[in-house]
Amino acid sequence: MLKLFKARSLRFWVALGMIVALTPLTLSAILGQLVLNRGVIEAFHDVAERQRREFGPLQDLRILVWDTLIPIDEYINEGGAQRPLYYRELRSRIETGFADVRAQFSDDPEALQHLDSAFQSWQVADTHATELASELLIPDDPAAERQARLFHSYIQSASDRLGQAYDSIAIKIESAHDDAVAWSNSAGLLFGGAMASSFIAMVAGVAIVGLIMSRSVDRLVDGAARFADGDRNHRINISVPPELSRVAQEFNRMISRIEVSETALADLARIDELTQLYNRRAFEEALIRVHAGFTRGAGAGALITLDIDHFKSINDTYGHAAGDAVLRAFAEIVRKSIRVADQLYRTGGEEFAIILAQTSAETAVELAERIRAAVAAQPIIYREQTIRITVSVGIARFVENLGAAETVAAADAALYSAKAGGRNRVVLSEPTGP
Ligand code: GH3
Ligand code: MG
Ligand code: MG
Repeated sequence: MLKLFKARSLRFWVALGMIVALTPLTLSAILGQLVLNRGVIEAFHDVAERQRREFGPLQDLRILVWDTLIPIDEYINEGGAQRPLYYRELRSRIETGFADVRAQFSDDPEALQHLDSAFQSWQVADTHATELASELLIPDDPAAERQARLFHSYIQSASDRLGQAYDSIAIKIESAHDDAVAWSNSAGLLFGGAMASSFIAMVAGVAIVGLIMSRSVDRLVDGAARFADGDRNHRINISVPPELSRVAQEFNRMISRIEVSETALADLARIDELTQLYNRRAFEEALIRVHAGFTRGAGAGALITLDIDHFKSINDTYGHAAGDAVLRAFAEIVRKSIRVADQLYRTGGEEFAIILAQTSAETAVELAERIRAAVAAQPIIYREQTIRITVSVGIARFVENLGAAETVAAADAALYSAKAGGRNRVVLSEPTGP
């Protein structure tokens, strides 16, 4: 599982971060739309619709019922043929009104019951009104007055029943309205929750990408800084994302190549071009190293310095090129006479040195003698000319109270003695007491 994720590219992580951040927001938008449509908009719409269909006609009907009092009362008091006509017109509108409202209340038995009792009261009131509006009415007749009071009380009763019907549907519309408000509130909560979780997811998404990226980028920067400071052994290790892993691999490859080039360059600076031996610089480094080992108590040690005798006259006699060939041949003869571990250095024009670690003065003298004899015995052929050379050798053993430079001076002094003693000889420097 972890491996599967490690292989994912940077693009993948960025895309994943965005999806994680945007998913709650998208879901909340869809869900919010549904809640808003179903729960809030439809519920409010229902409330408004019921108000339009049920409340309005019911209120109108109630007003019409009350309106019938006017033509009847006026007729009783003042007479007039128009008033019974107006009453009949109102009656027909009231009957249509009852039929219409009844149709709207078909699914509401409670309201229907109130409506039916209202209708019954209205019918009784109408019977009285019809009699009062007849031509037989005698003004100021006590019977007519009694009937008028009955008419009033039935109108009152019809209106009250209509009021009860009104109240019963009002309760239902109120609860539908409360539902809509509740939905609206929960939609608000849903939005708030979605925003909060989207924000958290966004932070998490950014954190995931940031974590993956920043650790790898930090390693890259750290690796580059260490390289700049000269550390050639450090390698950058990045596994995710693959893009940065590639950068790290290429960087490591570059460091390796630079290291190889630097080593080659450093070697070049420590090697003598003519003889391919290590030069004076390498000699000084090695002497300090070996001498330090001796000082730490690693047994014995000796330094041999060699100088070709009358080399100037070889140049003078055979030419500078012959001198070069002699230097190369001399290096070869000496190299063959010593162990691989004993390094030969060209320390100057026709001057050489050998550092002998873990070697006694006696062994050094034996080795020097062997070299001297080999050089003397081996003629060098240059362009069909035979050149014979000899070498003078100075030896200094490593001693406690002499440093590296003083050991070189002692060997040089011994070499000078060999020259002074007639050349082609080996002289061991005898340590002088403190
Ligand atoms: P001695 O026996 O006292 O050592 O005498 P020498 O002639 O060997 O010593 P000297 O120091 O007088 O001369 C060394 C000569 O080596 C001088 C210089 O021209 C020559 N030489 C130095 N380096 C090279 C080189 O790379 N090639 C050639 N052909 N000659 C060189
Ligand atoms: Mg010399
Ligand atoms: Mg010389």
